[in-house]
Amino acid sequence: MKRVLIVGGGLSGCEAAWQLADRGVDVHLLEMRPKNPTEAHRTGDLAEIVCSNSFKSTLVQTASGLLKAEVDILGCRLLKTARDSAVPAGHALAVDRGLFAQTVTAALEASPRVAVERKRQDDLDVTLPAIIATGPLTAVELSKALEHRCSSDHLYFYDAIAPSVEADSIDPNVGYYASRYDKGGADYLNIPLTKEEYERLITRIRAAQLVEPHAFEERKYFEACLPIEVMVERGEDTPRFGPLRPIGLPDPRTGVEPYAVIQLRQETRSGTLLGLVGFQTRMTYPAQQEVIRSLPGFDRARILRYGSIHRNIFLNIPALCDPYQRDRKSRGLFYAGQICGVEGYVECISSGLVAALAVFADLCERAIPELPEETMIGSLMNHIHTPCDDFQPMNANMGILPAQGNRKGGRSIRYREAAERAVSAMRRYREANPWLFESRLR
Ligand SMILES: Cc1cc2nc3c(=O)[nH]c(=O)nc-3n(C[C@H](O)[C@H](O)[C@H](O)COP(=O)(O)OP(=O)(O)OC[C@H]3O[C@@H](n4cnc5c(N)ncnc54)[C@H](O)[C@@H]3O)c2cc1C
Repeated sequence: MKRVLIVGGGLSGCEAAWQLADRGVDVHLLEMRPKNPTEAHRTGDLAEIVCSNSFKSTLVQTASGLLKAEVDILGCRLLKTARDSAVPAGHALAVDRGLFAQTVTAALEASPRVAVERKRQDDLDVTLPAIIATGPLTAVELSKALEHRCSSDHLYFYDAIAPSVEADSIDPNVGYYASRYDKGGADYLNIPLTKEEYERLITRIRAAQLVEPHAFEERKYFEACLPIEVMVERGEDTPRFGPLRPIGLPDPRTGVEPYAVIQLRQETRSGTLLGLVGFQTRMTYPAQQEVIRSLPGFDRARILRYGSIHRNIFLNIPALCDPYQRDRKSRGLFYAGQICGVEGYVECISSGLVAALAVFADLCERAIPELPEETMIGSLMNHIHTPCDDFQPMNANMGILPAQGNRKGGRSIRYREAAERAVSAMRRYREANPWLFESRLR
C-alpha cells in the first residue's frame, strides 16, 4: 500500500498526518526542526504555534467559532488537543502552547502508522502521494523549488509576533481581570490607560527604532495582524479603536470604561507568561523594552519573548491548484496550510484536514464530495481556488459566506442563522459520506 509523504510537521501537516493515520494510511512525516530552525519556532516539537496562543472565539455565531464547529463535525484532531490543553481566555480558546505541541508530538510519534523523520526537504522531487505543508516560513531551498514550479511569482507579506512578559514581573494591582462584555470568565488582565498615558505611549511608539526589512523586500502587511507601530502610523487613535479599545471593559473599581486598555492574555496553564494582545511589532529589542517598561505597573517587566516580524510565504494557489489543494500538473501532489493562502491557526488546521480527506479519497479511487458552499470551510476553499489578479490570504470571516436573500434582522441574528445553516450542512455532508470518515484502508 502507498505511503503518504507529508513535508512539514506544523499545524496543517500534523492534522493531515493524524487524519490519514486514523484511516489506516501509512504516513512519512518530514520535519526539519530542531536541526533546521525557523525564525519564529523555538522548539523541535511538532505543531508548535509561533505567536499568540489564542485559537480565537468559540462562539458559533463568529467566523472562527463556526469554523471550529464545522471541523469538530469532521473529527478534527488538533482542535480536540487544543481544548485538552486550554488555558482560561473568556469565550476564546487559548492553549498552553508547550502542552499542546507536546501532546500532538507524543500522539504522532506513538502512532504505528506515522514515521516521523527529522529532515529538511530541499526540492519537489518527492514520492507521491505527498502533501507539502511547510508553512509561511518554508525553508529557502524548498521555497525556491516552489517558486520555480509556480507559473507566477511567489507571494509574500509580513506577519508580526507580539511580545510576552513574565507574569510576576508586573504589578497586577494596576489592572483588573475581565473579558470584554463579560463573555466567558474574567480571564484577561486589563491595564487601563488615561488619555495622558495613552498619548505618551503613542509618542514612545512613534519614536521607537524599528528593525528594517531588506531593501529588496516590499512591505505588505496582513491587515488583521498589523504591527502596533503601523497602526499608530495610520492615526493616533487607531490602536484605541483596535486592540486597545476599552469598549465592553469597564474598570470595576470606577464603573467606567477607561480611555484605552491594554489586555494581557495567559499563555501557559500555570499563568506564568502573559502576552500583550495586539502588540505585534517590528521594534528593536531595546525599543520594545523601553516601550513596555513605560506602561503603568510594567517598570520591572521581564520580556520572555520579544515581538518580531517575519516574511510570510504563500503560493498563488488559484493558479497552481485545482479545488482541494491539488497541483494541477501532478495529481498526487497536494498543498496544505498557510502556503495555500489560508491565514490563521484553525484555518491551517482545517486546510490540513481537507488535504487529508482529498488524499484519502484518491487512495480509495473516489472523488472527494464537494464541501457544502454555505460552510466556512467550503467558502474558504472557494476563496483560495477562485482566480484573481491580486490573490491575498484569507482568514475565516462571515463576509466570505455566500449571501442570503433574506437580509432582514440585525447582524447578530443573520450571523446566527448563517452559522446554523452551515452547521446543518456540515452534519448532512458527514452523514451522506460515511466512507470518507469511517472506512479504513486496512
Ligand atoms: C510570525 C508568524 C506569526 C503568526 N501568528 C499567528 C497568530 O498569532 N495567530 C494565528 O492564528 N496565526 C498566526 N500565524 C499564521 C499561521 O496560522 C501559522 O503560521 C500556522 O502555524 C501555519 O500553519 P502551517 O501548518 O501552514 O505551517 P507551520 O505550522 O509553520 O508548519 C510548517 C512546518 O514545516 C516545517 N518546514 C518548513 N520548511 C521545511 C522543509 N523544507 N522541510 C521540512 N520541514 C519544513 C517547519 O519547521 C514547520 O514546523 C503566524 C504566522 C507567522 C509566520
